[in-house]
Amino acid sequence: MRIGCPKEIKNHEYRVGLTPESAAELIAHGHEVVIETGAGAGIGASDVEYTGAGATLGTVEDVFACDIVVKVKEPQAEERKRLRPGQVLYTYLHLAPDAPQTRDLLDSGATCIAYETVTSASGGLPLLKPMSQVAGRMSVQAGAHVMEKAQGGRGVLLGGVPGVAPGKVVIIGGGVVGRNAAAMAVGLGAEVVLLDRSNDVLEGIDAQFGGRVKTQYSTRTALETVLATADLVIGAVLIPGAAAPKLVTREMLGTMQKGAVVVDVAIDQGGCFESSRATTHADPTYVEEDVVHYCVANMPGGVARTSTYALNNATLPHLLRIADKGVRAALQADPHLMAGLNVAAGRITCAPVAEAQGLEF
Ligand code: NAD
Repeated sequence: MRIGCPKEIKNHEYRVGLTPESAAELIAHGHEVVIETGAGAGIGASDVEYTGAGATLGTVEDVFACDIVVKVKEPQAEERKRLRPGQVLYTYLHLAPDAPQTRDLLDSGATCIAYETVTSASGGLPLLKPMSQVAGRMSVQAGAHVMEKAQGGRGVLLGGVPGVAPGKVVIIGGGVVGRNAAAMAVGLGAEVVLLDRSNDVLEGIDAQFGGRVKTQYSTRTALETVLATADLVIGAVLIPGAAAPKLVTREMLGTMQKGAVVVDVAIDQGGCFESSRATTHADPTYVEEDVVHYCVANMPGGVARTSTYALNNATLPHLLRIADKGVRAALQADPHLMAGLNVAAGRITCAPVAEAQGLEF
């Protein structure tokens, strides 16, 4: 098979669909790989690294002439025009709220597999998980930086020093983001409290951190109590398929310490603080009620190299099977990959997308 990987053209997207190492794996399986010249620049992977791995450099036209196109972000309008019947598109799509993209993919006749709906035998969404791991770990790093006086924070060092107490980190939600945030906060020596609505999750956190993270069942009263003394609050809740619940109201924000920091990772689902609005890496923070807000909607984009490698670790095994067996056989052999199929031969093949768009399934 011929597998193509274009340079991402969405604004400020630095990740790339294939690393040189992934290209080498595909080539070792007997496939041809075409990389758009300069596609890896954003992660510091040079054209020479790709050609050294056995890939061919080409234009965007050469890439879209391939049997399979591998990307990171949903295809932009000019990319969608290049898709053709029978071609496989393997990338994040997020089609449910995106009618123009859905229409173009249906018109293209291409077979479109969305990373975000591929499932796994152990549950969860394995091609979304690496980005939650990145965002969770990054949330503490970002929060610690914003806590410095020059960034508007209250000037607290999360780990403290001998003789001075550490900072207090409150994490709301103990899923993938929350667990990874807790690991980083513990690593820095902070005092850590984590709240969740699931007793199983709280048990898991307690076992994983051996009591080093205090767990609390998430109620309004529990939140009000911990917020008043928090230095850094991380929003990491998710109700699958729904907007994030506004757990921290403006009134509750008003009870927090001046210069405290909130990092609302759940901002991509609307955020779990009433005062949250999406920000960018170029201008990541704003202040409300004397609390500094960091609400970057695409946190993994800030660490494009790590994110690309983490994403490739999750996407490559399926890609190898698609290329080795052909897309039809690969989909038939694996119901979890089949769950990723969103559009094929001009039809919607994913129930939630069809429902969201009011289209036939
Ligand atoms: P997850 O499903 O693994 O975990 C969510 C957790 O929230 C669950 O443990 C659930 O029990 C808990 N929860 C639900 N309601 C709650 C409540 N009222 N109080 C306390 N806990 C509650 O999800 P995840 O992968 O950790 O993702 C969390 C959020 O981060 C999602 O909105 C996701 O889209 C977002 N995210 C954002 C970025 C970014 O760049 N901003 C990157 C990755 C993920």
